[in-house]
Amino acid sequence: MSEMAVFPWILAAWLALACLSFVTLLWMPAPYGRYVEQGARRTVPSRWGWVVMEAAAVLVFVATFVTGRHRHTAAAIVFFALWMAHYLQRAFVYPFLQRAGESRMPVAIVACALLFNLVNGYLNGRYLFELSGGYPDDWLRSWRFGLGVALFVVGYAINRQADWTLRNLRPTGGGGYAIPHGGLFRWVSCPNYLGELVLWIGWAVATWSLPGLSFAVWTAANLVPRSRSHHCWYRMRFPDYPRERRALVPGLW
Ligand code: NDP
Repeated sequence: MSEMAVFPWILAAWLALACLSFVTLLWMPAPYGRYVEQGARRTVPSRWGWVVMEAAAVLVFVATFVTGRHRHTAAAIVFFALWMAHYLQRAFVYPFLQRAGESRMPVAIVACALLFNLVNGYLNGRYLFELSGGYPDDWLRSWRFGLGVALFVVGYAINRQADWTLRNLRPTGGGGYAIPHGGLFRWVSCPNYLGELVLWIGWAVATWSLPGLSFAVWTAANLVPRSRSHHCWYRMRFPDYPRERRALVPGLW
């Protein structure tokens, strides 16, 4: 069977797995960060865990780009640049800015995220640079592209700003937690997740593709349950936690 024929089936299975993942994560938060089990075995330094799992998204996307026949269109080059702008930061800058002291993460989390990034990078890159047949030159003038890129940029800015605020809660590099304030933290507990979600919804709109949509669905499947867990955790841990603050969507939820 050709890749073109198998691709929709991989995509369908991938979307089904996102739904399963969503339900599981509602009941059991992924065990990294504040949910890592005390005395967990088979762990690696968090910093290097982030590098390994996120570098996979860079490598697989580069591989699909250089092997794709439709990489020379203007849209393909912009999509490649957007992906790299996010993942080069996430893989090679973000981990070295974190101030979590000697924190560790389970190997199982690194393995799952690595697998996720390989499949997700393959689906998106292979579609954009090969299986789509190429985006026309006037794609850059379409409303989808304009709106999608605008959402991507806004989400990117929200995510980076929130990550910066969280980082500065640990000026001395310890592993403790505090109530974050400022920016969108005024309204929600997890603006970093909100930004990430807006960013990948923007990607889905700009690429107007099922692989792009599946990435947005996966991001929601991961981060909606996790923002709920974080929100409940903050409320239990800090009796003075701002009552008007929501989990993920300002004023709503
Ligand atoms: P968290 O918000 O759980 O943590 C981010 C960093 O801030 C960690 O170093 C954490 O430390 C620290 N931190 C968080 N809250 C506090 C606090 N109240 N006081 C002090 N320090 C704090 O985010 P994640 O680690 O889950 O995610 C990191 C990035 O990866 C985010 O930008 C997220 O959007 C993205 N991501 C994207 C996914 C996707 O599906 N696209 C999936 C998962 C993450 P510690 O680790 O010690 O808790």
